[in-house]
Amino acid sequence: MSDTCTHILRKPLTDSFEREIRSLRISITEKCNLRCRYCMPEDSYEHHSKDVITLEEIKLLVEVFHSFGINKIRLTGGEPTLRPDLTEIVRFISNYCPNIELNMTTNGVLLEKFGIDLLNAGLKRINISIDAIDPVEFQYITQRNQYQKMMNGILFALQLGFESIKLNVVAIKDFTERQIPKFIKFIEGTNLEVRFIELMPFSGNLNFQDKFLSKNEILQVIEQTHALTPIQKDNLSQTFTMYYVDGKVKIGFIPSVTDSFCKNCDRVRITADGNLRPCLHSSNEINLTNLLNPLDPELEGHIREALRKKWKEHPDFRIANYRPPLSDRAMILIGG
Ligand code: SAM
Ligand code: SF4
Repeated sequence: MSDTCTHILRKPLTDSFEREIRSLRISITEKCNLRCRYCMPEDSYEHHSKDVITLEEIKLLVEVFHSFGINKIRLTGGEPTLRPDLTEIVRFISNYCPNIELNMTTNGVLLEKFGIDLLNAGLKRINISIDAIDPVEFQYITQRNQYQKMMNGILFALQLGFESIKLNVVAIKDFTERQIPKFIKFIEGTNLEVRFIELMPFSGNLNFQDKFLSKNEILQVIEQTHALTPIQKDNLSQTFTMYYVDGKVKIGFIPSVTDSFCKNCDRVRITADGNLRPCLHSSNEINLTNLLNPLDPELEGHIREALRKKWKEHPDFRIANYRPPLSDRAMILIGG
């Protein structure tokens, strides 16, 4: 993509396996208003808001990573809509360079409240996480009574006319199977797309081996009552596979476990406490907040060095005794 911005551009970031890094996920908070069972540690969960990256640091991170050719930014968390300066963050990124594709992942609970401001600030694409269409099952999985607000948030976002709204559904065995027909019905006639995400193991999440439900198992459930047509991928780094259901409804899969996209991975993450985390599943991180002067001659070297440690691929999580290191972060503290 040619860049119409006049900012300084450096050589793109690459890792040791010649993958070019184009996509940055910034976790802007560790706080959340839900307690999804697969995302949180089972025992206790504390956020460390004193260390959270500031608006100024986020602006610098955007400038620095854009200078390395990052052209996709996703805001995530924790729950990004809990951050009081979210609208300013969105406005800054969307004004900084029109070539940056900005997206946000949210649980939707506060979209009715902030949707208009976010749209006006320049946010055009959102992913809303919803694991159950049924209110009782939603409350079971999120451990909070926020179904109505989440549903109002989705319906309001649809009315507002965001360019793209995708629904993220984490696939959970003996749970998601009964949600599938409800999701297909719910999105029929709308421009919503559902993405089923294979459950990944992180420190402290619910028992991965017992709860794992693969893309193929979901396909089998759908095929019993619907016709499925695969849709060709747009590009190599596309992490999802899409299908038409009965020629009209679009559903997708992020099969991170059974068909990992590691070989085309172009992502890095910034945690809410300012660490660069090159790989979702590896605890290798470097803190950037004390280096964050774009003119610091050491900054580029540190970032490139961190990228050299990016894993080639994550381990096969399906092996029976796989356990993520307990010392690593839970998903809510990494940023999905
Ligand atoms: N709170 C926001 C939300 O729920 O959309 C953003 C943060 S959340 C960590 C980002 C995404 O990660 C959500 O779609 C969530 O469902 C997904 N996620 C969390 N834990 C996961 C896991 N163990 N495996 C797969 N996806 C997970
Ligand atoms: Fe919160 Fe999102 Fe994690 Fe659910 S998935 S607990 S909404 S951060």
